[in-house]
Amino acid sequence: MTVRVRFAPSPTGMFHVGGARSALQNWIYAKQQGGVFVLRIEDTDAARNKPEWTEGILSALDWIGISRGSYEGPYFQSANAGEHRAAAARLHESGRAYYCDCTREDVQARTGSQYQGYDGYHRDRGLGPGPGHALRFRTPDEGATVVVDLIRGEPTFENKLIEDFVIARGDGSPVFLLANVVDDMTMGITHVIRAEEHLPNTPKQQLLWEALGVKPPIWAHVPVVVNEKRQKLSKRRDKVALEAYRDEGYLAGAMRNYLMLLGWAPSGDREIVPWSVIEDEFRLDEVNLSSAFFDEKKLRAFNGEYIRALPVAEFIDACQPWLTGTDTIAPPPWQPEEFDADAFAAVAPLAQTRIAVLSEIVPNVDFLFLASPLIDEAAWTKTMKDGSAELLDDAVAAFEALESWDAESLKSTLEAVGAERGLKLGKTQAPVRVAVTGRTVGLPLFESLEVLGRERTLTRIRAARLRLV
Ligand code: GLU
Repeated sequence: MTVRVRFAPSPTGMFHVGGARSALQNWIYAKQQGGVFVLRIEDTDAARNKPEWTEGILSALDWIGISRGSYEGPYFQSANAGEHRAAAARLHESGRAYYCDCTREDVQARTGSQYQGYDGYHRDRGLGPGPGHALRFRTPDEGATVVVDLIRGEPTFENKLIEDFVIARGDGSPVFLLANVVDDMTMGITHVIRAEEHLPNTPKQQLLWEALGVKPPIWAHVPVVVNEKRQKLSKRRDKVALEAYRDEGYLAGAMRNYLMLLGWAPSGDREIVPWSVIEDEFRLDEVNLSSAFFDEKKLRAFNGEYIRALPVAEFIDACQPWLTGTDTIAPPPWQPEEFDADAFAAVAPLAQTRIAVLSEIVPNVDFLFLASPLIDEAAWTKTMKDGSAELLDDAVAAFEALESWDAESLKSTLEAVGAERGLKLGKTQAPVRVAVTGRTVGLPLFESLEVLGRERTLTRIRAARLRLV
């Protein structure tokens, strides 16, 4: 039997990091089993779907390493609507489903004040199809539905506790539960690996598989991803969109490594490992049962390590989207013609060891490309104290006299200027840094001044000095 798994996102919003994790787990499982990964876009909720969300899913998957053309699909659930209706009709014909026109209020009036699920009123009343008649599945009264789950063992659900659930609405349209099963069946899916939130649907879906006469798949429900308060990551509250992380400058390699650690770990004491190791070592049945904390701080630290591990030339390439701007990344504050690739290449190794996400490259290097630096006023006020004006005067005089404009000479010269006033280098260089870069933190100062050049450095220090008059 060839293993066939699927990833079946609904295109109702940005692509959720939890979804990306399920996709990767499916992807690896298929690869390990010599199986097939199918992508199905569950686009039947017409009111909430948008084509751009579908495109977002495809491009986010591509970014994370599940590249277009390397899987089966994408299929679109909406294209299968005929099959869904045919399955509903078959279930009705075989007596496994029946029509019902009860409202919630009707059931409530019959059974007491609290609604505790449908009471089976229409089970044997023989109501035919018609507007407003929903189709309900006739759940067995006895026995139990045992779900074989690679992560959870054999969760068992008493059938008598499962109500006769709706499989097609009053307008005849099949609901998600049924459409999802029919698609999996049509696509020959053997293993359903998906988020834990679908576990309550599983006994109902397995009953549908059985009623439609097909052997159910093996299931694997992976634990939910939560925030630091142990709340399920939500798109309203948390940063969940894979695209947002991509546009902030997370590397795909770091992201997918991190995502795979949510609920699983490679052997040994390692967390940062090559993708090939994850592909070899990952075991679906080793995935934890407990919810997985999505720790953005840890992800940042991971990303910093991945950035530092890049060869400089690759780092420079990886920075390009932030140096130019794209459809989804804002352009930098300088004009394209102000950018100087050689100057950037000269400071790139310094930046590479300091940034955790690629978007941080921009505030670190903008002083090199702007005619005058963007002054952070709070930093200015904090740094420019009594004595700063004279210090800047002395720095200008000393720098003007320098024979060689290199980081080392700049450093020893400024150190001497500070020493005359009994100041340590840190205190001496702060006003110079703010004058030249507009900020209190950034790349090593003297290397920065070397790359910026004598003329621009002196012009900026003089301009800052004038502001202090
Ligand atoms: N479209 C469903 C979702 O995005 C998929 C459910 C499943 O994987 O079976 O949650």
